[in-house]
Amino acid sequence: MARTRIPLIAGNWKMNGLKADAIALAKAVAEGVKQGGWKDREVLVCPPATLVMAVADAVKGSGLLVGGEDCHAKASGAHTGDISAEMLKDAGATHVIVGHSERRTDHGEKDATVRAKAEAAWRAGLLPIVCIGETLAEREAGKTLAVLETQLKGSIPAGATAARLVVAYEPVWAIGTGKTPTTPEVAAAHAHIRKVLGGIVPDAAGVRLLYGGSVKGSNAVELLAAGDVDGALVGGAALKADEFLAIAKAV
Ligand code: PEP
Repeated sequence: MARTRIPLIAGNWKMNGLKADAIALAKAVAEGVKQGGWKDREVLVCPPATLVMAVADAVKGSGLLVGGEDCHAKASGAHTGDISAEMLKDAGATHVIVGHSERRTDHGEKDATVRAKAEAAWRAGLLPIVCIGETLAEREAGKTLAVLETQLKGSIPAGATAARLVVAYEPVWAIGTGKTPTTPEVAAAHAHIRKVLGGIVPDAAGVRLLYGGSVKGSNAVELLAAGDVDGALVGGAALKADEFLAIAKAV
């Protein structure tokens, strides 16, 4: 039987924020979450690694969840500058984004790396949000669904279940551009993702699928209403409490 999919609104702060502003932002979001008193949705912020502990401490008890933006596949060792999933957990994180297109592009991360990071998240007791998405060239070449299928099959580790996995569909060309796919295009991509998940995850109907790419308060209702969309992964709009909370309210 399908597990109930609790909508998740996740904010990816990327490489933005110094302590004072970040704490103020996190507290403002936490206040909105508290006031919302939502039992029917989850709200998550993923600050840069330097701020995870401070943000987690600042929002403790509010219901706002805190995650990391990325992790290394190993638990510890000679990996200068990297952060392990265990370190994120120790800092107060409950989730971690893996395979974001900016990691895939800036750091050459391939599906196998993303899969190892998702496994690392499980090892540390974190919930991985595995990102996939096609480039503009791939979309224009009609390869969107094939690309999503390849990325899913390569990035999701064996042993995945609905309780241990969130997938974010983020068309690369929609990230930070103000452009979004149409609602039917989002629904088609998500339907395909769920179909492919059917061959990978025993309870695929229960896996939460987030849409990400230029989500803001003004388009959230429409995008979140697309078939098989169980929430959003939000970049730029997550840096403004009002805007991010408007997306959370749109669920
Ligand atoms: C993202 O980086 O995950 C993202 C969706 O960014 P934006 O909302 O700014 O497009």
